[in-house]
Amino acid sequence: MIYRTDYHIHTSFSDGRSSPEDYIAPAIAARLSEIGFSEHLSLFKENQDWCMNPANTSSYIDYINKLKKNVNDIQIKTGLEIDFIPGKEKEIENFLSDLKLDYRIGSVHYLGEKTVDIGPEFYEGKNIDLIYESYFDHVIAAVSSGLFDIIGHCDFIRIYGFKPVTDPEPFYRKLVKTLKQNDVAFELNTNGRNSPLADFYPDRRFLHIFREENIPVCVNSDAHMPIRVGQYFDEAYELLKYAGFTEMAVFSSRKRRMTPM
Ligand SMILES: [Zn+2]
Ligand SMILES: [Zn+2]
Repeated sequence: MIYRTDYHIHTSFSDGRSSPEDYIAPAIAARLSEIGFSEHLSLFKENQDWCMNPANTSSYIDYINKLKKNVNDIQIKTGLEIDFIPGKEKEIENFLSDLKLDYRIGSVHYLGEKTVDIGPEFYEGKNIDLIYESYFDHVIAAVSSGLFDIIGHCDFIRIYGFKPVTDPEPFYRKLVKTLKQNDVAFELNTNGRNSPLADFYPDRRFLHIFREENIPVCVNSDAHMPIRVGQYFDEAYELLKYAGFTEMAVFSSRKRRMTPM
């Protein structure tokens, strides 16, 4: 039996629709052994209604830790989805260093002052090859920063389905090499299916590259509402098995272990 975990969940502490406890029953129904919360934390950016106020980080962690003690039917994990902002690595580490987390997901949402999921207008009339290159450069820098245990939706730049003219495989190869060097896991993020892209992140055509280098993987829903916890996981596991994966990454207190799939 697959040891199912879902480490990428947003609640009303950031831009999710429900409180953390509302996700527990759906997680059990989805046969998850562990559920982990990962609120958006974005430092050094203003006016973001989709992020938790950084000042609330400790109360969020305390809240999840209390839930851990009160719920016995499923293991609960405490995480954050942290925006990688180039040039702010030290400040981000200073903010995170004292927080007791089971894992840190590092994600790139911003290219410059705008987020890449702001709308298709971000891409229209622009050189998609250059946008891809810039996005992967940011993700690779996030991996190299040593700040994160898991890299979130590593090719989120696909969200609206804009495609580069040249084959993006070299970007994936460079990313995978960097994940290997820095011992960072990636996620198969099923929420891409609910976006205009209508497919998972990363691009299934390149999953074999992650497998060739034995990069640890988690399957995550990136749920913003309880009905999406564990969504499309059967298909995700099948896809990983087809690509040759045999193990899943499990996190506790920022230590990773691998469990058979
Ligand atoms: Zn994200
Ligand atoms: Zn997320």
